[in-house]
Amino acid sequence: MRLAALLVALALTQAAATPPSPPEAREIAPDTFLVPGGMLPNRGPDGNTVVFAGPDGLVVVDTGRHAWHSDGILAFARARRQPIRAIVNTHWHLDHSSGNGRLKAAHPDARVYTTRAVDRALAPDGFLTRNAEMARGRTPEPTDPPTRAEETAIFLATMEAFDELRPDVPVEASGTMRLAGRPLSVRAAEDAVTDADLWLYDEATGVAVIGDLVTLPAPFFETACPAQWQQALDAVWAMPFRLAVPGHGAPMTREGFDMYRGAFRAFRACVGSEAESRACADAWTRDVGTLLKTDVDRRQATGFAAYYVDFLRTNGGASPDCRVK
Ligand SMILES: [Zn+2]
Repeated sequence: MRLAALLVALALTQAAATPPSPPEAREIAPDTFLVPGGMLPNRGPDGNTVVFAGPDGLVVVDTGRHAWHSDGILAFARARRQPIRAIVNTHWHLDHSSGNGRLKAAHPDARVYTTRAVDRALAPDGFLTRNAEMARGRTPEPTDPPTRAEETAIFLATMEAFDELRPDVPVEASGTMRLAGRPLSVRAAEDAVTDADLWLYDEATGVAVIGDLVTLPAPFFETACPAQWQQALDAVWAMPFRLAVPGHGAPMTREGFDMYRGAFRAFRACVGSEAESRACADAWTRDVGTLLKTDVDRRQATGFAAYYVDFLRTNGGASPDCRVK
């Protein structure tokens, strides 16, 4: 089953869509705020946004997919009466970067910091270009949910303005950067969720912002190198963080993060074994335990995990877009 069909099937089992309203920021540490992402029925997800308030303005980490998500970020900046100075994209997946253009339109001095991986995704044979071609060529079907055309239009509008996804300041290596006057440790992870991801550690608060290195209810492997992803989780663990904000899901303690890290390792081992995909999926859902809050989360976790066992096995253990196999 293709992932889009799986998402539809899962969504149909949920309650009807509630009208989207902008997410509200909440403080998770001093001068550090979470604008929570979400996953509404029959729609693509929005990743979490973290905003660091610095002496010179705001540092926005990831910008979501939908306008209502970037509206939440913009409303927060207005309420704080502070300009957005820096946008950090942990990776180029569009649920984390589609809002770049809207933020820059309102805050023209904002600069985008991310890796060069997005240039490869935007190349003629890159993941985003291939997917845009597929979306343009697809004939709508009567069974499509009403949101489908809208989601496709959002995707293609983002692709029309693809330059907004590219870095103003490419980040090639790990190091401490001063963004909006606030020192942040910016870490580069090669060949993990995409072929180059960023994550951040703020020594002052002990907050780590780790993008899709942690994704609940299950990791998304579309562009991933699972073995190097595991190494990136180990690198996060080696940092003395107190609270980790994942790309999707609630902020987690060290204990919660380590639960995820162990579940990820076990899942990879299961993918490499002869076990039935359903058995690996059930084990995933059990291993991430209390990180999943509701029955809907658990059902989604098992559905996604089973899908990705087959996806990874079909593709030799890693995404076809993984450069190091
Ligand atoms: Zn994501």
